[in-house]
Amino acid sequence: MIACPCAICASLDKKDKRLRSSILVQSSTTTIVVDTTPDFRYQMLRANVRTLDGVVFTHPHKDHLAGLDDVRAYNYFQQRPMDVYANEMTQETIVREFPYVFAEMKYPGIPDIRLNRIENEPFTIGDITVQPILVWHLNMPVLGFRFGNFTYITDANRIDEKEKGKTRGSEVIVLNALRHEKHISHYTLQEAADLARELGISRAYFTHISHQLGFHAEVNHNLPEGMELAYDGLTVAI
Ligand SMILES: [Zn+2]
Ligand SMILES: [Zn+2]
Ligand SMILES: [Zn+2]
Repeated sequence: MIACPCAICASLDKKDKRLRSSILVQSSTTTIVVDTTPDFRYQMLRANVRTLDGVVFTHPHKDHLAGLDDVRAYNYFQQRPMDVYANEMTQETIVREFPYVFAEMKYPGIPDIRLNRIENEPFTIGDITVQPILVWHLNMPVLGFRFGNFTYITDANRIDEKEKGKTRGSEVIVLNALRHEKHISHYTLQEAADLARELGISRAYFTHISHQLGFHAEVNHNLPEGMELAYDGLTVAI
């Protein structure tokens, strides 16, 4: 956290250096990213992502959206609009927060974005089928996503029973786990661990971690078998 004097923020352990939460999902032919964080540009540079076929949004909070402008590099090299998949609420925010992208008179070099409306129904990008899962972030509906046997749920603290069913049978789940103390709109580490267990998913990773959670090494060491803290650059093969 900017300007924070705590020991976690001063840690020299690479795994305590956390950019904002996002994932890259890749098949043999298709690459998509879930959310464009304020760190999107650096994340794509760091992971050397040369092609991008689409962006899928969970919800319109700034820490998941702010980096969208930088898809213009992919427009330049791929010579096509970037397909963006978002629900109505997120699309409204995109249009409001990036008005120049959708202006009648466009200045050169701005991102070229094609908005695709998604609902809580499966859709396909290239050869990747995406199953949305509706979760609650306090009172905001957020989309989690299941890709094959991999489920990603960020920014939530509640999930309805019927949506839980969509996660069952996943081999891996990623859940947000902000800190130990109760939070108004995010799962705590304990709540996330309990949910992973309840869903019967044997491998769980926790993300969207605050400096308040503690040192990666220490917290990770105390997690039960099959549960781990995610960290920047983590790759999961499935
Ligand atoms: Zn701190
Ligand atoms: Zn959020
Ligand atoms: Zn967030």
